[in-house]
Amino acid sequence: SRTYVVTGSASGIGKATRELLLERGERVIGVDIRDADVTVDLSTAEGRSTLVEKVTELSGGVVDAVLAIAGLATPTAKTAAVNYFGTVATLEGLRPLLAKSPAPRAVAVSSMASLFPPDDALLAALLAGNETEALARAVVLEAGGPEQGGLIYGTTKRALALWIRRHAATAEWAGASIPLNGVAPGVVETPMTADLIATAQQREQLTQMVPMPLNGIFEPRAVAYLLAWLSSEENAHLCGQIVFIDGGSDVVIRGDST
Ligand code: NAD
Repeated sequence: SRTYVVTGSASGIGKATRELLLERGERVIGVDIRDADVTVDLSTAEGRSTLVEKVTELSGGVVDAVLAIAGLATPTAKTAAVNYFGTVATLEGLRPLLAKSPAPRAVAVSSMASLFPPDDALLAALLAGNETEALARAVVLEAGGPEQGGLIYGTTKRALALWIRRHAATAEWAGASIPLNGVAPGVVETPMTADLIATAQQREQLTQMVPMPLNGIFEPRAVAYLLAWLSSEENAHLCGQIVFIDGGSDVVIRGDST
């Protein structure tokens, strides 16, 4: 069996992925802020370094796949800290352990929301790797009300997708035979979206706003199947792709522009 590190393993997509991999006989090291093998807060520098320490200890120093799934969708600075800096730190921090595997894989979870117009100042600070500036910008957006605050989430997910694109083909990843890819889910039924899709009327409203021609809102296990394949030995040649699993939102929103 292979050793998989799954962040966000306590809930939603991460939990479904952990369960699928365990069913398949794989070894999973779950990481989350609660109820996990490694309990850390990925919004902090301390949590990120403890992650690497504990995973090194538990894995014996070799990891076959990293699935960076943990995330937040609140209109807060913490969302920027977890979704972007926490995810990048997970990927970079565990890369040396991946490099020791005979078939290493890495995948992170972006979002269909990465297609929405970003906040340019936040995007620039994220891509520059400037956490102080990014968090300060997120605080300003949060204070600006729901519309401004609502830009934080999609901006972090766009930055993450771009980080994957910019790193996948480098010496550290492709050059070390580590496929690095992302997935961009549409609307998935998890605790994160529960308040958005609680009633039939809300679901209807959301479906009007976010086009999902193929089978609409769906279960986290659908994303787990894709993540499991991307992080399996079968995937040796996908490099820096962001796979949209969104019932067609990307096709409708972006049309011909790829
Ligand atoms: P969820 O809230 O059910 O699960 C997220 C998990 O991340 C939780 O277990 C949570 O404790 C963990 N987490 C949050 N902050 C953390 C921190 N600081 N340190 C460690 N762990 C932390 O949500 P989900 O829907 O399963 O989301 C999983 C991922 O998928 C997220 O990155 C999310 O942005 C992304 N996503 C979700 C949807 C959707 O519709 N549900 C759509 C697109 C992308």
